[in-house]
Amino acid sequence: MFKLSKKVQSLPPYLFLEIDKAKRLARAEGRDIIDLGVGDPDQPTPRFIIDALNIAALDPANHHYALDQGMPALRNAISGWYKRRFNVDLNPDTEILPLIGSKEGIAHFPLAFLNPGDVSLIPDPCYPPYKGGTILAGGSPCIMPLLESNSFFPDLNKIPFTARRKAKIIFVNYPNNPTGACASDDFYKQLIEFAVKNKIIIVSDLAYSEMAYDGYKPRSLLEFNGAKDAVIEFHSLSKTYNMTGWRAGWACGNPQLISALAKVKSNLDSGIFSAIQLAAVAALVSLQEHIKSMCRLYQERRDILIDGLNSLGWKAVKPKATFYIWIKIPVKADSISFAARLLKEADIVATPGVGFGKYGEGYVRMALTVPKERIKVALERIKKIS
Ligand SMILES: *Cc1c(COP(=O)(O)O)cnc(C)c1O
Repeated sequence: MFKLSKKVQSLPPYLFLEIDKAKRLARAEGRDIIDLGVGDPDQPTPRFIIDALNIAALDPANHHYALDQGMPALRNAISGWYKRRFNVDLNPDTEILPLIGSKEGIAHFPLAFLNPGDVSLIPDPCYPPYKGGTILAGGSPCIMPLLESNSFFPDLNKIPFTARRKAKIIFVNYPNNPTGACASDDFYKQLIEFAVKNKIIIVSDLAYSEMAYDGYKPRSLLEFNGAKDAVIEFHSLSKTYNMTGWRAGWACGNPQLISALAKVKSNLDSGIFSAIQLAAVAALVSLQEHIKSMCRLYQERRDILIDGLNSLGWKAVKPKATFYIWIKIPVKADSISFAARLLKEADIVATPGVGFGKYGEGYVRMALTVPKERIKVALERIKKIS
C-alpha cells in the first residue's frame, strides 16, 4: 500500500535473517545450539564500569539532555587514552566527537559529504553499515574486493578511474571484520597517498584496536604522516570493554570532518546519556588491566578452535587480532548452504561469508564468543559430520 523510498529499496537484503530464524527455531525445538555467529562478547562489562554508571545514574544532574558534542570530561578522557595508546595528540574540543556507538557515526557520516552520483569506495566483504550508510545518503557504493591473495587489502591500483573521480569516501577497517586481517604500515602509507592525491576522505573503523594477540599492537591510521588531512577514525567501547549494549564510541581526526559529522548528528539525536558518558570515562582512564585478560581469553579460544579445525583437515589461519575466524569452506558448497548444514547436522551457528558481500562467498565466519569447553564440543560435533 505504501511505497518504500528508492533508497530503502536499494539497501542490500539482510541475509542473516534466514539463519537467525533457523537458529531460533532450533532453540525452540530444545536443541543445544553453539552460537559462533554473533560478534558480541559473552563476558560481562567490567564491574568498575558498572559501578561508575550506578553512581552517575543517581545524580539528577545527569538526567537531562546531554550536550551534542559530548561532555568535556569524556572528550578529555578520549584524548588522554589516544595519547597513551597511540602517541597521537587530539584536541578534545575540535578533533573528538563522542557517538552513540560507532555504528551510528559510521552510518551517518556519508550524509555529510555525499551528493547523488557521488561514490564511496567500500571493501567487500565488510561490516554492513558502510554500504547502508552510503545508500541512505544517496551515494553509490563502489566495491573493492578483499582477496586472500592480497592479504585482504583492497588493491588501490585496480580502482577504476571514473570511481576515483567520483569517490568522496574510502572505508577501511583493520583489524578487519570479518577476515581478521591486520593493516601493514606500507598499506596505510599507500592509502594516505592515494586519498590525498584523489581528494578522498578516509574513514578508518578501528573497533578492534585492542583485541590483538601474540604481542601484536594494532596502529591508528592517525599515527601516520599526513593522516590528519584526510582521516576520520571511528572507535568503540563495545568490543574493548564488553559494552555492546551500552552504545558508546567516538570519532576523531580531521577537525573539518568531525564538525561536519557533529552538524549532521545535531539534527538526528541528542547525545549519549550522561551517566553512560561518565562510565565511559571510568573505562578509558582505568589501567586497562581488563584488556589484557580479555585478550588472553580470546587467544586461548582462538588456538583451541583453529588447531582443532586444522587437525580435521580444514585450512584455518590464526588471526593476529579480532575475535573472528574467517575460514575457507573445506568442502564444495556455497556459504549459505554450508552454514545451514552446520546448523542442521552439528547444531552450530556460523555466519555465511556472503552475508558480508559477494567476495565473502566461499567462507564462513566463526566468532570466539563462547567458552573454550563449548568450542571443544563444537569441534567434536564437526568431527562427526566431516
Ligand atoms: C562491532 C563493530 C563496530 C562497533 O559498533 P558499535 O556501534 O560501536 O557497537 C564497528 N565496526 C565493526 C567492524 C564492528 O565489527
